[in-house]
Amino acid sequence: MGFTEDRSTWFEGQGLWQHVPAEQWQDWTWQLKNRITSLEDLERFMTLTPEERRGVAFAGKKLSLAITPYFFNLIDRTDPNCPIRKQLIPREGEMLVSPGEQLDSLGEDEHSPVPGIVHRYPDRVLFLVTDRCAAYCRYCTRSRLVSNAQDYNFHPEYEQGLRYIEAHPEVRDVLLSGGDPLLLSDRKLEHLLARLREIPHVEFIRIGSRIPVFLPQRITPKLCEIFKRYGPIWMSIHVNHPKEATAELRDACERLSFAGVPLGNQSVLLSGVNDDAEVMKALVHRLLRMRVRPYYIYQMDLITGGAHFKVDVRKGIEIVRSLRGHTTGYAVPQYVIDAPGGGGKVPINPDYIEKITDDEIVFRNYEGNVHRYPLRVEAGKVPALDPMSVIDGS
Ligand SMILES: *Cc1c(COP(=O)(O)O)cnc(C)c1O
Ligand code: SF4
Repeated sequence: MGFTEDRSTWFEGQGLWQHVPAEQWQDWTWQLKNRITSLEDLERFMTLTPEERRGVAFAGKKLSLAITPYFFNLIDRTDPNCPIRKQLIPREGEMLVSPGEQLDSLGEDEHSPVPGIVHRYPDRVLFLVTDRCAAYCRYCTRSRLVSNAQDYNFHPEYEQGLRYIEAHPEVRDVLLSGGDPLLLSDRKLEHLLARLREIPHVEFIRIGSRIPVFLPQRITPKLCEIFKRYGPIWMSIHVNHPKEATAELRDACERLSFAGVPLGNQSVLLSGVNDDAEVMKALVHRLLRMRVRPYYIYQMDLITGGAHFKVDVRKGIEIVRSLRGHTTGYAVPQYVIDAPGGGGKVPINPDYIEKITDDEIVFRNYEGNVHRYPLRVEAGKVPALDPMSVIDGS
């Protein structure tokens, strides 16, 4: 695999859509209308593998196929192992259910007091406000309810969700997700943020969105004005591979940052996409350059048909170990497993502690060397300084 960081290779331009006027290309509704959504569309541009062709045929029953023209440009159409291609183009493996895999692997439905609200942690809720995304990730945890390919009967109904939050003063943090909240119109999103801001106990509002990555054109000055008005609004974007960090994404992140939106990133560890220390390092470095702080790396949830994406957790731990101490601390995300069945997110970072006794803690540094820090506290015997000299300054 591998990805060599080259400062000159942030993708930019219209790629396959040179003939489209720039004004249209920059219009997010044009991008949505012109998405690649069928076998026919795909085969106009590229030759699929037999596995992909079977996967595409099945997609309609699981999770729709959709790729924005902007993001399609990032696919290497000659390489079946392209990390962007693997995330977006369905493969046959999606049809196979392995032991332990579930449609609702995080038990979200059981923690849902009203449709669209998942209340798992005491002080914060996940608020699913739409079932649509700009493009669909083949490993999506919520494939049961996004894109409406399955008969799941999820109808985001945010009046009920807002009333639930209003009635629960313990909810100080609201995470808007979906689907992708930034697919709502400006008017709807503004209304939602205004309503949340009116609730006195809601002190932290954040949005989980892959729109900046799939559809940076959506980050318009008008949208940024809304974030300014109702801020602070925090945002977690979702970038998995350094190739996704394009000039357009960088500009969209800049617009968000300048509107006062603190940015974090969530990645999912995916086989053949980013399960490689060099790739992950290039990714986190690009994120910092875009003012985005790496927040989480997720071990993939046990979703149905996800086995072909799965990475051994020991590999994930080694990737995080290869970052800590070897690069900027800000660049190192937390590696977490969202516990199957609904236990919440649990860190599974590398362990540096060798031993803790009453006397000392013994640990290893990033180079693997053993260090010690004494723990037994004894009253000092020799003054470090003459106390009077500290007081009178002499
Ligand atoms: C991930 C998640 C959150 C937010 O968790 P943080 O660790 O605070 O980012 C809240 N509710 C649910 C149900 C979640 O899955
Ligand atoms: S953007 Fe998020 S919710 Fe939408 S398909 Fe991808 S992972 Fe699922």
